[in-house]
Amino acid sequence: MFAKSWLLLFFLGFFSSWVNAEKSQTVLLLHSYHPQYVWTQKLTQGVQEALDQHIQTENLHIEFMDERRYQIDPSIGQAFIALLQRKYQHQQPDIIITSDDHAYYFMQEQGERLFPGVPVVFCGVNVFNPNTLNGKTNFTGIKEGMEIEGNLDLIMSVQPNTQRIVMLGDTTGLGLRMVQRAKHIKSRWVKQHQHVNLSIWDDFTLEELYQRVAKLPANTALLMLAIHQDKNGQYFSFNNQLPILSERSSAPIYGMWGEILLNYGVVGGMMNNPYQHGFQTAKIALKVLSGEPIALLPIQEKAQYTPQFDYAQMRRFDIDLQAIPDNSVVINRPEGLPEKIQKWLKGDKGLVSMLLVVAILVFINVVLRRKNKDRWVKFKSRLQQRSHTLNKENQVLQATSRKMEKLAHTDDLTGLANRRAGESEINAYIRRFRIDDQPLSLTLLDIDHFKRINDTYGHPMGDAVLCALGAALTKLLRPGDRIYRWGGEEFLISLPHTSVLDAREVCERIRQCVSDLVIGDSPPESDIHITVSLGLSDFQQGDTLEGILLRCDEALYVAKHNGRNQMVVG
Ligand code: GH3
Ligand code: MG
Ligand code: MG
Repeated sequence: MFAKSWLLLFFLGFFSSWVNAEKSQTVLLLHSYHPQYVWTQKLTQGVQEALDQHIQTENLHIEFMDERRYQIDPSIGQAFIALLQRKYQHQQPDIIITSDDHAYYFMQEQGERLFPGVPVVFCGVNVFNPNTLNGKTNFTGIKEGMEIEGNLDLIMSVQPNTQRIVMLGDTTGLGLRMVQRAKHIKSRWVKQHQHVNLSIWDDFTLEELYQRVAKLPANTALLMLAIHQDKNGQYFSFNNQLPILSERSSAPIYGMWGEILLNYGVVGGMMNNPYQHGFQTAKIALKVLSGEPIALLPIQEKAQYTPQFDYAQMRRFDIDLQAIPDNSVVINRPEGLPEKIQKWLKGDKGLVSMLLVVAILVFINVVLRRKNKDRWVKFKSRLQQRSHTLNKENQVLQATSRKMEKLAHTDDLTGLANRRAGESEINAYIRRFRIDDQPLSLTLLDIDHFKRINDTYGHPMGDAVLCALGAALTKLLRPGDRIYRWGGEEFLISLPHTSVLDAREVCERIRQCVSDLVIGDSPPESDIHITVSLGLSDFQQGDTLEGILLRCDEALYVAKHNGRNQMVVG
């Protein structure tokens, strides 16, 4: 049991080291060139990002061999060896990453002496000599290779009318090795493209080169292999001299070194990517550091080359977007509207402008709302004013209507309710009393010999008598009783809730009071006395107003016939 646990712990330890590099491990990144070289800078970035999280930042040591500037002085090479010996004598790096040909070949020659047994992962080797490994088992990496054929084919596919291709190189370092490879490829390639004149220029001063490219005929393309110096030793940098070469050239220049060429005057090409190259190489280094046997990590034959183009140069040479491969990356491409908006929004100016737009919109909103509020307040006050006026007009109309209503139901002379009012009110009583079974008595009252009054005292005095009788009757009646001027000198009195027996007494009292009434002022000899006759009847089940009135009328007739100044029940 105890032994088994130890075995388990051993395997766990083994596998954990297999999966993770330890942060304390050190990495030496040995560059062939100088720090300002864009290729070297991008490659370093790729290495750093791959190592991030796995290796402590300060445990990455970076050395620059600066080969382009010091390759002809062997004493500098010796001094560099001594420097490395001195620097790393006490602490050997756990792994070495080399970038580009010079550092690779340096490690092949000096590695065993300087860093015995330390694994080496290389990248950026354009011209790889397999003999150099010579049984060494601590080397792996990615050959950068070069993409001469791929670029020649690309030129023919983008510009099918090309009749001449000139490849540009020099006689130093990488340029020399590339020219050799180009010569080798040329013999094979021209067999398949016999109509194309393929040549190599590697022996010129920069001024000569500029003049020659200016005179190139149409349907010519240039392929940049690598130029670092002219034949007088004048330095050619891709940053500074390539734009001049491109400007002078009457033919488009193609190339394969990604970011160090693109945007400096080349039209495009099958290009590699130094960042990706460094990143992939450092990933292999991490595998080695975490315990993966280097023998299981075979050398990769070539870096990735993908089509990349510069739209500005394409326009200059009338190369259509349709002509380049679909998977091409195109820089300096004019942005469509969506990209422009996206870019604008991402930028600080975009943010400020957006805030400004929002502020303006808020301001407009506030102004509009205030304006609308003012309008609303005015509208509301006008509405209130209008409604006030309407109310007043309405009140006047209602008052008029009430007045009219009253007038329509009032007798002009006596101010009593008239016949229309009587019919309407008594019909209402009759409807109610049909249900409630309440008594209702009506009496028709007529002034006796009224004609004589008119004849004797004049019509106005007759009017006065009518008025005086109306007022007297009103006083005599009980609150619930009603009196109507029925017509001429006839009055109808309604006595609700009053049986015919009770009504008889009321009528008798009226008759008596009227006969006692003295109408007129002084002198006493001009006093007028009147009497009245009354016909009384009451409401019977199934009765109508007309029915009762008929009975009242008949009773009144009887009263008149019997001598007047009396009441008869009908
Ligand atoms: P009887 O006792 O039979 O009722 O006799 P009478 O004279 O009262 O009745 P008659 O029907 O013969 O005359 C009624 C008179 O009443 C005739 C009319 O000129 C008069 N009269 C009717 N309305 C008015 C009115 O509003 N003012 C005045 N001054 N007289 C009126
Ligand atoms: Mg009459
Ligand atoms: Mg009369």
